[in-house]
Amino acid sequence: MTQLLTDTLASTPTMPVLFIGHGSPMHAIEDGPFSRAWRDMGESLPAPTAILVVSAHWMTRGVSLVHVGRKPRTIHDFGGFPRALHEVQYPAPGAPELAAATLDLLQNHHAEADMEWGLDHGAWCVLLRMFPKADVPVYQLSLDLSRPFADHMAIARDLRALRRKGVLIVGSGNAVHNLPAMRYGIEAFDWAREFDENLAMRIRNHDFGALAEINPRDPLTRMAHPTVEHLLPLLYTLGAGEEADTPSFFAEGFDLGSISMRSVLLS
Ligand code: ZN
Repeated sequence: MTQLLTDTLASTPTMPVLFIGHGSPMHAIEDGPFSRAWRDMGESLPAPTAILVVSAHWMTRGVSLVHVGRKPRTIHDFGGFPRALHEVQYPAPGAPELAAATLDLLQNHHAEADMEWGLDHGAWCVLLRMFPKADVPVYQLSLDLSRPFADHMAIARDLRALRRKGVLIVGSGNAVHNLPAMRYGIEAFDWAREFDENLAMRIRNHDFGALAEINPRDPLTRMAHPTVEHLLPLLYTLGAGEEADTPSFFAEGFDLGSISMRSVLLS
């Protein structure tokens, strides 16, 4: 039997897995209930050896990329926000060793090493709150948009071994994400609440696999996710979940009526 790189790394108690509903990049610099929930979660977690982020904002086709750089750059992948947000840097080191071990785990899923990416705002906006010292190594895995939902979950299942090597797996997206529908002065649209509560019920019932069966063309799903990239990171979080995990929600609520800020802890 060939030995995996992961087997050569020191073992740790099993790390929790997170999904963060990230919403607007402004949560990185504007204080509010969601950013405070992220901070409190960061303070309550066991210290990770590294963080693997699966962000809605790194999309690829036909390949899953793993960033292997030693000094991931802070990517300001948005427009129309204040200069203060564009000036934010998150200088956490990369995790090339764990990235190599991750590629090894994903050898049956067409994964390749990447040196170009870094940390997009789906990663650094939440990590800035959770780990403000930027002293924990971070690396990202891209979303291969050409794959069906079940494949994303299968990839995530193969990432589970990292949890016993001190890696904190963080999916960063939104449980409901419809930008064109955003509106001031409304708490949540009925369809947004319905989709969000459906997801929450399945997560509470430990029915993680049900998410892989969501049909992206179903009318309610199309309202909640006109494009699915913000839903996919949740599949990674739940796919990395195990029978022994207890699911809980450490943030809930909506931004502008159509963005669910629900955040999930599996531990
Ligand atoms: Zn986003």
